[in-house]
Amino acid sequence: MTAMVTPHLFIPGPTNVPDAVRMAMNIPMEDMRSPEFPKFTLPIFEDLKKVFKMKDGRVFIFPSSGTGAWESAITNTLAVGDKVLMSRFGQFSVEKYADLTAKDTAHEIKAVFATHNETATGVSSDIAGVRKALDAAKHPALLFVDGVSSVGSLDMRMGEWGVDACVSGSQKGFMLPTGLGILAVSQKALDANKSLNGRMNRCFFSWEDMIKTNDQGFFPYTPATQLIRGLRTSIDLLNAEGLDNVFARHTRLASGVRAAVDAWGLKLCAKEPKWHSDTVSAILVPEGIDSNTVVKTAHYRYNTSLGVGLNKVAGKVFRIGHLGALDEFMIGGVLFAVEMALKDSGVNIKLGSGTGAAAEYFSKTATKSAMAKAA
Ligand code: PLP
Repeated sequence: MTAMVTPHLFIPGPTNVPDAVRMAMNIPMEDMRSPEFPKFTLPIFEDLKKVFKMKDGRVFIFPSSGTGAWESAITNTLAVGDKVLMSRFGQFSVEKYADLTAKDTAHEIKAVFATHNETATGVSSDIAGVRKALDAAKHPALLFVDGVSSVGSLDMRMGEWGVDACVSGSQKGFMLPTGLGILAVSQKALDANKSLNGRMNRCFFSWEDMIKTNDQGFFPYTPATQLIRGLRTSIDLLNAEGLDNVFARHTRLASGVRAAVDAWGLKLCAKEPKWHSDTVSAILVPEGIDSNTVVKTAHYRYNTSLGVGLNKVAGKVFRIGHLGALDEFMIGGVLFAVEMALKDSGVNIKLGSGTGAAAEYFSKTATKSAMAKAA
């Protein structure tokens, strides 16, 4: 390892910050109460609505991580003692949600929580299915979705899926440093906030003052202006590529990773292909191998940061984050490092098998526009 090369970052967030975004943040401090400021901020709120594919409602930007946005979503719509439905892990069964909401004929459940992309296990979930279950049960609960590791990388359709609050952060699909909690809420959630009548204490994350000032293009307290400058560029980059192309790129890169995992003879934590996440792969190591050894080996020998296994899967999985500003070359690089780290850690794999399978996949499936340009 040489100090001249910064570590190759393949954790599922924070992700790589594109140069254009970094440069957009490298500016002098500015006056967040300047009469010019709203010209910069108001279009960002509108453009974010398109990223979340909202049909109504608004977007809040807090100087926090995604967890702050979660606190905001909950404390502005629910009261202490309200009953909610959520699965302990991101992986949940839509059938179970359907059953429980159908049985709740008194409508005691005030909100249903689901995770669009569970980062610890690399599982994507069927949010449209949860909406269907709620509609079938004619259940009025709010639908809250964790989109921290999905928004900007996987298709989030808040309007179509009737999502009332979608929580995100700056450091994953938005390709920024950590520091912005981005919360998109529907009109129904805004109405729930109005009828809450102060039954939940809140201050920093309160919507009321945000709405009053945001409507004028300002914030109730000092906003993270550099990060919001970066956010402007990150939204521009997503739009320049086209959201559908961004999603397709994530699927393609994830498919290359999955081809490598298959070739190594290893398995993903997410068993069924329909649950496979296009932003992070949690890869099970064989019995008798500690996945932390693989992560440490990649770190110390090959200057590559992988995600460790968390909680129940600690020691059993390691994770490759493949979201944000990435291309085939970079995926090839991480697979190269992983392959060596696996072999060094005692996993019986053939060097070149995974990288070869990914290369095969990428070469066979090169996009038509790329082929046309190369011709
Ligand atoms: N939800 C998911 C799915 C996450 O992956 C994370 C962080 O990785 C969080 C919530 C917490 O977000 P933050 O670390 O931005 O507070």
